[in-house]
Amino acid sequence: MPMTPFMQRFPEVGARETRSVTVSQQQDLPDGDYGFLELYCDEPGCDCRRVTILVLRPETGWSKIWATIGYGWESLDFYGAWGGAHSDPIEMQGPYLDPLNVQTKYSSALLNLFRVLLQSTDYIERLKRHYQMFRDSVEKRDGREGRLETNRIENKRKRLRDPKRRRRHSH
Ligand SMILES: [Zn+2]
Repeated sequence: MPMTPFMQRFPEVGARETRSVTVSQQQDLPDGDYGFLELYCDEPGCDCRRVTILVLRPETGWSKIWATIGYGWESLDFYGAWGGAHSDPIEMQGPYLDPLNVQTKYSSALLNLFRVLLQSTDYIERLKRHYQMFRDSVEKRDGREGRLETNRIENKRKRLRDPKRRRRHSH
């Protein structure tokens, strides 16, 4: 489940619609801006309906990760039915701090901040819409763009061999 920044495929929409929060005089967080960068799964054929959020700050050049949050908007039953590659349904749903990725001493305060953002149904709808845009681009562009540079030539060869190309739409 390789997670890829939404901003990478949709730079304009991403710049316009990535949530950020300005914190001031909060005990557990330094003052300033916090951006909630969205990452979505770019595995063809997958339908995991979740987002990974990296919390980044302009103060640290948008490069240091302040927290990594996982969140899925579907029911526990939906994630429970996944099994296999995806683990615990409660973790799939979240929001939770991703134990396999970067965290800082501010992570739990940032998770609380994200929980506040999720109180807005507009924000949840936006995440779902971004997920759908991203997934559509994965299914359309798989094997053409968005792949590693090193795979380009190989893909080109495959394309020449198979004029039908790989059609893997599962819905
Ligand atoms: Zn996935």
